[in-house]
Amino acid sequence: MKKIWEVAVPHACALGEGPLWDHNTQQLYWVDILKKEIHRFSPETNAHHIQKLDQMVGAIAINSKGGLVAALQNGIALINSEKNTVEMVAEPEQHLPDNRFNDGKCDPDGRFWAGTMSMTNQHGTGSLYTLEKDLSVSVKIKNVSCSNGLAWSPDLQTLYYIDSLTFEVVSYDFDVESGGIQNKKVIIRIPPNEGLPDGMTIDEEGMLWIAYYNGWKVARWDPNIGKELNQIRLPVSQVTSCAFGGKTLEDLYITTANTGLNEQQKEKQPLAGALFVIKNSRFKGMKAFEFQPSKKQD
Ligand code: CA
Repeated sequence: MKKIWEVAVPHACALGEGPLWDHNTQQLYWVDILKKEIHRFSPETNAHHIQKLDQMVGAIAINSKGGLVAALQNGIALINSEKNTVEMVAEPEQHLPDNRFNDGKCDPDGRFWAGTMSMTNQHGTGSLYTLEKDLSVSVKIKNVSCSNGLAWSPDLQTLYYIDSLTFEVVSYDFDVESGGIQNKKVIIRIPPNEGLPDGMTIDEEGMLWIAYYNGWKVARWDPNIGKELNQIRLPVSQVTSCAFGGKTLEDLYITTANTGLNEQQKEKQPLAGALFVIKNSRFKGMKAFEFQPSKKQD
C-alpha cells in the first residue's frame, strides 16, 4: 500500500494528544499530557514551540478573548501564553485526587467540554463537564471511565462522545442554546481486538475520524449507519487523536504516544510519539470552535 502519511514534527511525545488547528494563526496545537507541555507548530515556517506547565494538560482550546482554555490535571484554566500565566477557573474534582482531566473541546456555542479519568485505573469515577461561558461548571455525563473523543455534527444537532473503556461511540441530541444533551444512543462498537477508541474529529460530510490506541490506525466511520468507511494505517501503535488543519482544512494531523512501549517495541516503532499529517487528504474538516467567555477578564 502507498504510504500516505508524513511526519509533521518528529519530536517524540510521551502522550501526544489533543490536536487543534488554530485558524487565526494557521498553527497546529497539541499537548503532551504526561510531560506537561503545550506544543505549537507552524507548517508555513516549520517553527515548533513548546510551553511547559506545572501540571498535566489533557486538552486545550482557543479562547476567543485571547490565549487558551485548558483542561489540566486538577481543573480547567485560562492560559496566557505570552505572559506565561495560568489562572485556574474550575476545580470540580477536588475530592477526587486520583483523577485528572483528559480530552476536551469547545462546542458550537463557545462552551468548553472536558472530561476526567482515573490515574489509578478505577472505573466509572470520571465525569464529562462543561466550563460555561460565565465560567461556572456543569456536569454533563457521570460514571465515565476514560473521557475521550468529542465531536459535533455539522448541523449542530448531535454530540458524539467516546468513553474509551466502553469501546463505543455514543450520540446525544444536542441543544446548542442550552448545551443540553439527551437521548443517548450507541452508534458504533469497536471490536476490542482492533484497539481502544481514543480521540476523534469530524469532517464536513459528518463522518467521524477515530484514533485507535494500540490499534495502529485512524478510521473513518459513518455515524448514521454505524459503518466503517476506510482507514489509514500508521507506523506506530498508540494513535491518540486527529484533527483537520491547513488553509483549506484538508490536512489531517494525527497525534501519537510512546509511553509504555518497551525497548523492543520502541525499536520497531521509531516514530512513536511523533506528530503525523496526511496532506491533501481529499476530506475537509470543520473549523474548531472557540471558547467564548461572557465574563470580562483581565
Ligand atoms: Ca485521549
